[in-house]
Order: sequence, then structure tokens, then C-alpha cells
Amino acid sequence: GISSEGQKSGGGKLAQGDHKAQQALARRQWILEQRKSLPIASVERRIVDEVRKNETLIIVGETGSGKTTQLPQFLYNAGFCKDGKVIGITQPRRVAAVTVAKRVAEECNVELGQKVGYSIRFEDVTSSSTRIKYMTDGLLLREALLDPYLSRYNVIIVDEAHERTVHTDVLLGLLKNVQFARSRSTIKQHNFDNANANKYVVSDKEDKTQSFSTLRACQGAKLTSLKLIIMSASLDARGFSEYLGGAKAVHIQGRQHPVDILYTYQPEPDYIDATLITIFQIHLEEGPGDILAFLTGQEEIEAVERLVHERGHQLPEGSQQIITVPIYSSLPSEQQMNAFKPVPYGFRKVILATNIAETSVTIPGIKYVIDPGLVKARSYNPVTGMESLIIIPTSKAQALQRSGRAGREGPGKCFRLYPESEFGKLVDSTVPEIKRCNLSNVVLQLKALGVDDIIGFDFMEKPSRMAIVKSLEQLLLLGALTDDYKLSDPIGCQMARLPLDPMYSKALILAGEFKCMEEMLIVVAMLSVESIFYFPREKMEEAKAARKRFSSPEGDHISLVNVYRASAECLEKSREATSKEKTIEKALNKWCRENFINYRSLRHARDVHSQIQGHVQQMGLSLSSCGDDMLQFRRCLTTSFFLNAALKQPDGSYRAMSSSQTVQIHPSSVLFRTRPECIIFNELVRTNQNYVRNLTRVDPLWLPELAPQYYAAEN
Ligand code: ADP
Ligand code: MG
Repeated sequence: GISSEGQKSGGGKLAQGDHKAQQALARRQWILEQRKSLPIASVERRIVDEVRKNETLIIVGETGSGKTTQLPQFLYNAGFCKDGKVIGITQPRRVAAVTVAKRVAEECNVELGQKVGYSIRFEDVTSSSTRIKYMTDGLLLREALLDPYLSRYNVIIVDEAHERTVHTDVLLGLLKNVQFARSRSTIKQHNFDNANANKYVVSDKEDKTQSFSTLRACQGAKLTSLKLIIMSASLDARGFSEYLGGAKAVHIQGRQHPVDILYTYQPEPDYIDATLITIFQIHLEEGPGDILAFLTGQEEIEAVERLVHERGHQLPEGSQQIITVPIYSSLPSEQQMNAFKPVPYGFRKVILATNIAETSVTIPGIKYVIDPGLVKARSYNPVTGMESLIIIPTSKAQALQRSGRAGREGPGKCFRLYPESEFGKLVDSTVPEIKRCNLSNVVLQLKALGVDDIIGFDFMEKPSRMAIVKSLEQLLLLGALTDDYKLSDPIGCQMARLPLDPMYSKALILAGEFKCMEEMLIVVAMLSVESIFYFPREKMEEAKAARKRFSSPEGDHISLVNVYRASAECLEKSREATSKEKTIEKALNKWCRENFINYRSLRHARDVHSQIQGHVQQMGLSLSSCGDDMLQFRRCLTTSFFLNAALKQPDGSYRAMSSSQTVQIHPSSVLFRTRPECIIFNELVRTNQNYVRNLTRVDPLWLPELAPQYYAAEN
């Protein structure tokens, strides 16, 4: 009996092990089948051939056809990395780079960061064995500062080119030059010297010595040619082809199912409410299938999440439950994959996404799309030099992409939350970002790359001369350029080295002088993430009371410092009690909930903080603190953000000094009621009014004192 029982239990264990192995095997098989069924799979040979034959190739294919996940693997398997070089794939958005890299690592059955990895600002998950590297377009631009010939890449794939982000556009111009330079078989010491390279850092993980040896290897050495592949979801490849010297375009046949488009009868006064109603209408009246709703940003997504949960509780007993999953750019990377996970049986998944889900990421299982028809976009006024965020109607192309998401696996439905007559009024396609953003950052980077003639640079679409001149002026005022518009040393070089908006970089450099580096690091990190505070409609009073605990009469910047410090204290306390990271994070999460602080944003800010601190230390700036002497800190803010100063008018509104625009203090500011004489601000948001956000009270006399280059002449 005993022996047979022993055998049985032994057999049981074996079976359990078997079971796990079987599950893993089944998943691998399932992934393999999924891959084989993608539209791109049937044209693998043809595409690889075309890449071999053409130095530059344009690949056009519907979203979800497998371009982003499959093409790099095809090229890898075809031997494009045999010489140890890398295939780089750029994405306009962080989330896409991260989630796709994770997926491809799984498809290849390798650990993320080994053969397949990703690198985005503030996060580098690659190693020397990485051959397929997903990254943001902005990051590749920064790499070019260190490695002007991008010598470690054999192939660069510019993905989602139809999005026409400002980084994609600049990158295309740069890649054209690099490809040309590399096609000439030998490269001489080309307007590039080691001393200059010293000033740039690509990522913190990058070991300096290693980077320099790569550089030396590339100098004077024979470089292989660079394959350039442009991928796009929009059908019109002509613009790219013309720009890239008549490059060939390959089209991948998609497999789209019919999608029913439904419109509202009337315009919706409150699209958040309309979205919510539509979610529940679909949930109660339509058959199975997941829902994808397009919202404009993190704040909106989180508000809708809370409202869905609330109303979800009121669902009739026994009805199917709803699970919401958010996906937006600044979502911490460990949470980004949640959108792809299947939900438990008997639940319906509602994905709340920004326009990232338009073409960048394809989430399986979607049958219903809710499209309020809006998108948050950058907008720039070259006359005033002011950039702002506005919520505007999508283009027709975007509306079509959004509805297409409902028909990938079968017939679907798309609910456009506007009347049909409105659709005809939408613009055909979005204006490239380079034509509607402040170019200071771009100009600074191009200067650092040795491109001196910005106006003559070969842009796919030239930004207005006025916009370029305005950014040159701004950079000059910030001290990043010399009087003859060359990059200044050390300020300009240091500013180009930091992966931040030029004004933020300047603030950090100045913080060394004003001895408030600790405070400025916190502020820059907190301003690099979205919405630290949250105000649920149903607990408005509580949330306001909680916010008061951190409020500083001096303004929002110092309030943000207070929040960060209080959260650090909470972390320290729990570290004293335990060393378990999970418990510590839980305590922080609880603290955030009690104080109406957005945990996701705070976590992100903490990551950003440690990354920027690394940069600052590498640059040799000292980590000073001004202690309680916030005067120094406010003076430092004034010296860096003097272009964003505003003075109170007799009627209580404000006038932005640089643009003479009338602006209002955003209700979320701690200065909303006190209304000081003079403020500096970080952000301009346009809704029905011009609102400024993230403010600090300053003395108007500081402006001519601390920024005489701008204010002294006027006074
Ligand atoms: P394209 O780039 O042409 O839009 P992708 O290569 O992104 O297409 O997607 C191909 C397929 O891979 C889609 O079916 C998509 O659902 C799936 N996929 C992509 N990323 C993930 C992920 N992280 N988890 C699960 N499936 C994914
Ligand atoms: Mg893609």
C-alpha cells in the first residue's frame, strides 16, 4: 500500500511538473499560430528580399498586420545581425516601445533585455547582447549625439512614421544624412572630435568607456551601409517616397472586418458623461467583446475609471461585471501590459486609452470602439513663441484608424460621440507636429549634432521660418547659444546633454549656482509626469483638505516639493519597519490614497528623479539644498522661467509678459485664490480660456534683476 501510494504521489508531482511544461508549450504553440496568422507572415520572403535589394524601403500596412512585432524578427532570422550589429526600431511613444519589446521577447522565448530589449528616456532595458532594440524616436536622436554615424545599427526602422511626431521628422532628416555618409565606403574624421563627445550622455546605464571605444572604432573605420525602413499605417506613402529619393513602397494587404459606425443625433455637451453612458449601454445591450474608449489624457482616463467602478456597483445583480484597464504614455511600465492580459471569465474588459491605441499598440479582443472625436495636441503660436496643450477634434484619418480597431478579429461597432454631419468637417489628416510645437528642443539638439544651418536643414516639411527664428531667440536668451548662434560652452552643451525641455535643463544648471539642486530636481521630476493630485468628483472636499496639507503660499512648485518630501518620509518610515519592497510599496500606495495623491504618477516621478539625478551628478553639478530658504529657490525659478512670467491686471486676469496674451490662473493652482502680483508658470493650457498651470509667486523686480537680457531693455 505504502509503496504504491508513494508511487502515486511521485506520479502526481511529475504530472504537475508536466502540466506546467505543457501549459508553457501550449502557450508557445498558441503564440506561434498567432504569428503565422498575421497578414505579414505570408509575405515574409518578399519583404526580406526587398530589404536586401533596397537601401531604403517604405512598408505600409494596416494596424495589427504584424509590422512592428514581426519585421525585426524576420530580419534577424535572415541574418541581418550576423556581424553583431543591431536592428533599431523607433516608436513615437514609450508605451509602444515597452509593450512591443515585451511581446517580442516572449515570441522569441528570451529574457527581456537580452536579445530583445527596449530603451526609452529614463529607462534602459538592453545589454551588449541586444540585437532587436525598440526605442522612442527621441532616444535615437539622443544616441546620435554620442554616435553620429549610429554605427552600432545595421538597420533602422522608423515605425509609425504617419504619426509625424517632431522627433520622427527630425530623425528622418538625420538618418538621410547618416545613410549618405555611411554609403561612402570610408569615413574620415568627419566634423567630429572626441572632446566634444565627452559632453554627451545617452543613458545612465551607458558605460562611458564602452561608448568611447565604439566611437573610436567607428572613426576612420569602414562602416557598413545603413538600411532604412519607414513603416506607416497610412496608405499614402508618396510623401515619404518623394522625400527619400523615390524609395520603393511595399503594401501589406490587411484583413479588416466590417465595422458599423454609429453617430449621435446631437452634439454631446459632456463627452466624459457620454462616454460613460455609452460604455454601460454597450455592456447591457450588446453581445460579448471588449470595449476600447479613446480619451485625451491620464486625468480623464482616471476619472472615467473611477466613475465606471462606481456605476459598476449599481449593475443589476447577476449581470456581467466590468474591468477597466488604462493605457497611456506615462503609465508605469509594469502596469502597461495589463491591457493585453485576458480578463477572467464572465467579465467584460473596457480599455481606456489615449490615441496610443489608434495605431501604436494593438490590443486583441476589441469589438466595440467609443470615439468622442477628440485628442490632446500641442499647439504653437510662432508670433508669441508660446506652446500650449489643447483638446481638438481628431482628423478623418484618426477617426478611421480608431473605428478600424473594432474590426480586427470580426465585425464590430464604433460609436462616434458626435453627429454624422460633423465628420465631414474634420480635417483629412493631422498637421505634422513640427508645424505646431516650440522648436527650441529640436534646434538645441540639431546644434549639438553639428547642424548649424537650421533653416537650411532638409526637413520633410519645413517648419515656418518664424518658428525657427523664435526658438533661436529663446535659446539665445537662455544662454544656450552664443551671439553668433553657436552652441555655447558649457551652458549650451550641458543643456543639450540633459533629456529635458531647454528651460528645465537651464533650471537644473542654475540650481547649482542658487544652491537649490535638491529642490529643483524634485520639481523637474514632478513636472515631468502628469497630474500628481487627483480630485474625485464625489470626494472633492476631502481631496481639497488633503491638498491643503501640502500647499505652500508661494505656489505650486514648492507644494510639489512638499508632497515629494512627505512621500519620501513615508517610504523611510516603512523601510525602518521592514525590508520587504512589496510591503513598502503598499504603504506608499495607502499613503497616496489617504492624501489624494496619484500613486502611479508619484512612482513615475520617483523614477524620473533618480534618472535626472544621475545625469546631474555625471555633469559634476553639486546636490545642494536651500533648506528652508525658499527665496533662493524662487529666484532660481525666475531666472530659468523668465520667459513664462505674467503680471496681474486691474481686472484680476494676468498678462503673459513675453506674448502679451491674457491668461487665467488654472483652478487647480494653489494660487487660484490669492492671485499674487507676479507669477511664473510652466504650462499653458487652452480650453475656452488660456489657463496657466504650475505657478510660483515671484517679485516683479526680480525679472529685470535676474533676467536683464530680456527685461532690462524694456524697462
Ligand atoms: P502592426 O505594427 O502592424 O500594427 P503589431 O506587430 O503591433 O502590428 O501587432 C501584431 C499582433 O501582435 C497583433 O495581433 C497584436 O494584438 C499582437 N500583440 C502586439 N503586442 C502584444 C502584446 N504586448 N501582447 C499580446 N499581443 C500583442
Ligand atoms: Mg505597429
